[in-house]
Amino acid sequence: MTGQVSKLFRKKENLHRTSGSEIVKKDIKSMYQEELEGMLAGMGEPRFRAAQIFRWLHSGVKSFDEMTNISKDLRRKLIENCYISQAGIEKKLISAYDYTVKYLFSFNDGETVESVLMKYHHGYTSCISTQAGCKMGCTFCATGKGGFSRNLTASEMLSQIQAAQADNNIRISNVVLMGMGEPLDNFDNVVRFLRLVGDENGLNIGMRHISLSTCGIVPRIYELADMKLQITLSVSLHAPNDEIRSRTMPINRKYDITQLLKACKYYTDKTSRRISFEYAMIDGINDSDACAAELGRRLRGIIAHVNLIPVNSVEETGYKKSKKDRIRRFTEILAQAGITATVRRTLGSDINASCGQLRRQTIKENSAKEV
Ligand code: SAH
Ligand code: SF4
Repeated sequence: MTGQVSKLFRKKENLHRTSGSEIVKKDIKSMYQEELEGMLAGMGEPRFRAAQIFRWLHSGVKSFDEMTNISKDLRRKLIENCYISQAGIEKKLISAYDYTVKYLFSFNDGETVESVLMKYHHGYTSCISTQAGCKMGCTFCATGKGGFSRNLTASEMLSQIQAAQADNNIRISNVVLMGMGEPLDNFDNVVRFLRLVGDENGLNIGMRHISLSTCGIVPRIYELADMKLQITLSVSLHAPNDEIRSRTMPINRKYDITQLLKACKYYTDKTSRRISFEYAMIDGINDSDACAAELGRRLRGIIAHVNLIPVNSVEETGYKKSKKDRIRRFTEILAQAGITATVRRTLGSDINASCGQLRRQTIKENSAKEV
């Protein structure tokens, strides 16, 4: 945790611990129903209680006392041994142009992350964070600039969706793991989240309605492919060659483009799912005709779609969005190479301090207040 972050959070109570003792309470909303059954059996409770409690937790209750069909005695035992993870609204920005809402959520220990709710013609999509901060250090990314604080639990990922649903009285049908953090760097919690969010007694969001974006942690892409989960994989490529990619994305020094694309090919072969490649267009860095031609050559033979995103300029990076004409030309060259590319529609452009900026700004404000 950075100095600034710890200053902001040290005032807040850590609710994971029972006061005055070192007993760590169980994160009950991260538990599978079978795990709940096991825990309840240990308390002398019948199996069906687990299904009841699981449904309550995933309907978004904030306290055990809301579980009205559970006896007072069992509720008391649960309060003693477990806690319900929640996402509280710390800040909220609503776009004036479209139905996009950006949240800064805080968890039980005071840690904060960003999350975005978007409305498309097919329904509501929640863009959630998987880590508070990120270790990957991509040079164009506000989250990367802010450093890493901690992994999120599966329940904290679920809570972001539940809080957005409750705040707007809606049902979210699609989820993208594209907020703060690198999902494949928090692999076990992310897989647990995916299994929980798809549970028919839970939020029941099918894997085909979920996209996971990664900067390219190659061994984890193989692992994910072998699970055959049917989620959409987005790969943040952002460069056609190792020279540019290693400059902007340090992960490329560990797993280069050749290794990454080999893993992507394995993923599509195993799952028959098309991969989306994210490509942030940065003026003068990765947007030349030569870059487009090279990208076209590299992606040949992979079932792929390219999303071109005019880069969001982040304070301190000096990067600027590519010009419209440049993006059009880039798209044409890709099309000539047989690669379909679309320019990402930017929702909420007025509040689109790109992901990581709202949290960073808040931490700076709070530490300024404390000085
Ligand atoms: N860590 C994962 C997912 C979170 S980032 C990843 O890197 O894929 C979500 C997406 O936003 C990624 O494609 C990332 O490269 C992109 N991104 C980060 N900063 C950006 C910026 N300033 N402009 C445009 N896209 C950005
Ligand atoms: Fe982390 Fe993704 Fe940002 Fe890179 S782009 S620093 S991997 S959140």
